[in-house]
Amino acid sequence: MANQEDQFKKLVSHCKEYGFIYQSSEIYDGLSAVYDYGPYGAQLKNNIKEYWWKSMVQMHDNIVGIDAAIFMHPKTWKASGHVDAFNDPLVDNKDSKKRYRADVLIENYLDKIEAKINKEVEKAAARFGESFDAAMFKATNPRVLENQEKYDAIAKRLANAMTNSDMAELKQIIEDLEITCEVSGTRNWTDVRQFNLMFSTQLGNIAGEDDKLYLRPETAQGIFVNFLNVQKTTRQKIPFGIAQIGKAFRNEIVARQFIFRMREFEQMEMQFFVRPGEEMKWYEYWKAARLRWHLALGTPAEHLRFHDHDNVAHYANAAADIQFEFPFGFKELEGIHSRTNFDLSQHMELSGKKLQYFDPEMNESYIPYVVETSIGCDRMFLALMSRALTDETVPDADGKDSTRTVLRIHPALAPVKCALLPLVRNNEELTQLASSVYHKLKASFYCQYDEKDAIGRRYRRQDAIGTPYCVTVDFETMDDGCVTIRDRDSLQQERVPIDKIADIISAKTDMKTLLV
Ligand code: ATP
Repeated sequence: MANQEDQFKKLVSHCKEYGFIYQSSEIYDGLSAVYDYGPYGAQLKNNIKEYWWKSMVQMHDNIVGIDAAIFMHPKTWKASGHVDAFNDPLVDNKDSKKRYRADVLIENYLDKIEAKINKEVEKAAARFGESFDAAMFKATNPRVLENQEKYDAIAKRLANAMTNSDMAELKQIIEDLEITCEVSGTRNWTDVRQFNLMFSTQLGNIAGEDDKLYLRPETAQGIFVNFLNVQKTTRQKIPFGIAQIGKAFRNEIVARQFIFRMREFEQMEMQFFVRPGEEMKWYEYWKAARLRWHLALGTPAEHLRFHDHDNVAHYANAAADIQFEFPFGFKELEGIHSRTNFDLSQHMELSGKKLQYFDPEMNESYIPYVVETSIGCDRMFLALMSRALTDETVPDADGKDSTRTVLRIHPALAPVKCALLPLVRNNEELTQLASSVYHKLKASFYCQYDEKDAIGRRYRRQDAIGTPYCVTVDFETMDDGCVTIRDRDSLQQERVPIDKIADIISAKTDMKTLLV
């Protein structure tokens, strides 16, 4: 655990030191749970969004993209249920004054039971070797069974309390489990109360409930209210989807895990409109498709898993998360929800406008059902960074062992694709040649020119920001017109003609490699 905490701290400081992420308004001591992306962070984030947009919109004839406003008519949030039900249960420890989400305190308790079960399984696996049957062990070992029973009973109580918004029961669970505050170590808790997560402001200069505007807490509603506009203007037939990337805002109660839980963040959401009754087929389809999207980046399958929701939100009839193994454990990275026709029906009722689709094949009108895929861009950023950041021992230029920090980000997503490095900086002919190659290449992809410090240090700088290829221009280049390309991961060096560099690097870093 300590090791994982160290790893996480290292990640946060790496993000700052190398210009990926800064705390917002840092010179004023920052603003809690709000972050700014620096030069490499902004580039990497754009690449994540491009990968998502291309795989959803460009690769699907029946998905189109929109960019709706952050502000929406206040009735939108009444219709969607956010005004009445977008709450988190809040609890304070009276001694430390530290604030918690009651459900998260209980979930953390469940994580500990799960860790115990996993430990038993690992221990047994080590003892029995190859003949070990994990499923059989879990089904028969008394200690595992006892913990699993405990886990299931708590998970059920939590799900019921959340579904029924039963604050007293949440408090009771915390008391029954004897959960203590991590700061004061006491069990001196306040009552659990509901806290609405929406930020509000007002339109114009008249303050009052009617003019209250909300910063959108999800991008989805901008898609629902535009459903007919888009369908009519693009002549899409059901099933079809509408995709959107944009900012969302939530006044999170607890925001202590860097960009995992922010108050201002970005979502990449797609709502897929289907015939009533066909939603479960499409729900399964999108679960599989979204998992493939993650796996294509080289994320090992064991770091990803589905987690079915025990308590489904008020608008859904099925919901699963794709969880990723962050340095602080498996947590939600993306949600796939079967949202029924809840949102469209609600908007139809409150707006008085008909939001139905006439299905020519069925010769009837209906309110479509919706399957949603929703992923936080920032959480995806954190997932990528936490898997990519590696310390390793490699031979240096003299063949001796040295350590390097390398960001093994997929080449198609790397902020800088290639660095142009003249072997030395004090030879004008050499630096001019390297610089002219750089100026030609930068029209094809994001490049950097760097002549400062010894070549080994320049390699390390590029490794730390995840540049997949370094191109070195040396004295021989002036004779044979060839350069050396160094591969970030394998450290292989290859000599190639200058006029081939663009093709070689494009082939390896093109987003296409992820889409086909
Ligand atoms: P959680 O249970 O972690 O609060 P959620 O279930 O409320 O998340 P959704 O409403 O399903 O999340 O939002 C979809 C996605 O948006 C999440 O999977 C996550 O990637 C992202 N997301 C949600 N809240 C935040 C946040 N505060 N900061 C960063 N990303 C977020």
